[in-house]
Amino acid sequence: MRKAAEVSTRRFSSIILIVIIVVLALSLAALYQAYELFVLNDPNMGYYLLIGIIGLALSTYMLFQTRRQIRKFTLKSPPIVTTIICPECNFKNIRNFERGDYILKELGQCTKCKGKMMISAIYREVKEKVKEEKVFT
Ligand SMILES: [Zn+2]
Repeated sequence: MRKAAEVSTRRFSSIILIVIIVVLALSLAALYQAYELFVLNDPNMGYYLLIGIIGLALSTYMLFQTRRQIRKFTLKSPPIVTTIICPECNFKNIRNFERGDYILKELGQCTKCKGKMMISAIYREVKEKVKEEKVFT
């Protein structure tokens, strides 16, 4: 699912990039036209100058927006971790989730008391600030 999202993001950004390049090219052409009219002392050069500046600003703005969007899309989702405990001595071990992990699965010997280790929890490690709970009194 994450791969599909990445592919669509890449496709989306490449289309945007083409649009930006086209707008950039058009605005540069307008600026060049404005320069030529300026040399000829044509009063219409103001229009071309305006179009060129707007186009340039627009393409720059879109470029920044797209970069921000891509960064938002490629944010890594927090890792899933597996907590393994030894019920005998409460020795706790946390490692990354592996395929086939499930809660209460036995995982070999405890390094401390040679008891049986088992998975006690599987969860996504969220590194967000804990929101303060409002207490109504
Ligand atoms: Zn133990």
